[in-house]
Amino acid sequence: MQEALEKWSIDLMTSIIPNVYNIIVRINDKLVGELTAKGYAEPTEEAKKAAKKGEAPKTKLDNMRIIDNGVVHMARMATYASSYVNGVAAIHTQILKDDTLKEWYELYPERFQNKTNGVTQRRWLGLCNPELSEFITDLIGKKWVRNLDDLKRLEKKIGNEQIDKFNGIKYLKKKQLSEFIQKHDHVYIDPDFMFDIQVKRLHEYKRQLMNAFSIMAIYFRLKEGKLPNFTPTAFIFGAKAAPGYRRAKAIIKYINEIANLVNNDPDVNNKMKVVFVSNYNVSYAEKIIPAADIHEQISTAGTEASGTSNMKFMINGAVTIGTWDGANIEIAENAGVENEYIFGARVEEINELKKNYDPKKLYESNDEMKRVIDTLIDGRFSDGGKTGEGSFAELHDSLLKGAPWHPADHYFILRDLPEYIETKIRVNNDYKDRRGFAWKCLMNTAHSGQFSSDRTILQYATELWKVK
Ligand SMILES: *Cc1c(COP(=O)(O)O)cnc(C)c1O
Repeated sequence: MQEALEKWSIDLMTSIIPNVYNIIVRINDKLVGELTAKGYAEPTEEAKKAAKKGEAPKTKLDNMRIIDNGVVHMARMATYASSYVNGVAAIHTQILKDDTLKEWYELYPERFQNKTNGVTQRRWLGLCNPELSEFITDLIGKKWVRNLDDLKRLEKKIGNEQIDKFNGIKYLKKKQLSEFIQKHDHVYIDPDFMFDIQVKRLHEYKRQLMNAFSIMAIYFRLKEGKLPNFTPTAFIFGAKAAPGYRRAKAIIKYINEIANLVNNDPDVNNKMKVVFVSNYNVSYAEKIIPAADIHEQISTAGTEASGTSNMKFMINGAVTIGTWDGANIEIAENAGVENEYIFGARVEEINELKKNYDPKKLYESNDEMKRVIDTLIDGRFSDGGKTGEGSFAELHDSLLKGAPWHPADHYFILRDLPEYIETKIRVNNDYKDRRGFAWKCLMNTAHSGQFSSDRTILQYATELWKVK
């Protein structure tokens, strides 16, 4: 994210933290001295050609100064001053090397070391899912508490009896969650429904809006009798928006409007339910995650550095519907791609699309997509303002017109939405084979050992800190 590569103006720094700023000046001077000695202040071959066309000659150093153009580049300072730089999942460390911190990788290749994130099985299995923990311990003993790789031994122990037991536990976790949501958020969800869950910070790149559109597409298809064999599904969201992030708040409002429509429509509410839980936090996560059948990690490829809730869901035996992004890739490689639902453009395609992307054309050429996106402005939902003038219209514009600070649909929702809807229908269909689906879920649990934070921390200790 551009916003994560913080840049602070010199004026702000000198007025708030003048002493710190003086130290930054000294760090920058040292960097500039070192790079000048290496010839980085000379114009590059490309710059020489550009200079002939009248452009200002660029040097390698120009892209690397910590203090440049009136701002302090925090990521540059961090890279210069650190022993190591970690992208927190394999794909993202590669993106840092190839793109984000390219010049720095060339200068300090040995600093760039991937250590994929992890989560602790003591909280995200032991404490939050005692029922599944006991099931596992009965089969393979309790070594997994200290060594999550031991879960691999599950694979050979699973037959129909174990699969049925697992489905019983999943049902119990869904029933417990249903009771909690009823009490906490006053919505009833039938635990016999399939639970499809997206919980994470609200951000455009995480594409909760794309999930909302897919739900509207399913809603229309159900209304028109086009999905006669649809497995009843509960679509569950949890998220908070940053205080000043108006679009994020508009997306929350839109999803709540969809919930209001769907949950009160007798034509569909025996087939689907939508709920956006309030005050999503770690305590809520501990109740939600064990109850998932499918988990949504649908960020635009290249935008989610790792993700960690994908790991929490994996350990608890949910399949991921997701893009080829962040730790999803390593999750699919460990559990087997056949045990996840991967869709959408990959990083290479997204990078190509950025050169000339026309979401308006996609919108005009796909009636279902147009209809679904237009629910933002067709007067069906209230955003609290006048139709066509409020926050929902602003979301609509962000997809089709863009804004002063970004081109139209900069997270490529229209590229991925049709494929995403079809993938969702496919999961829904696969779920009918309850044993087959449970096997996929259990393969996720069995191959989640790689995603223990014990492994991450051990790698830090041995490979970076050189602890003996
Ligand atoms: C794990 C966790 C996150 C991180 O979720 P991602 O989907 O990886 O972004 C955010 N919030 C809470 C409460 C969590 O438990």
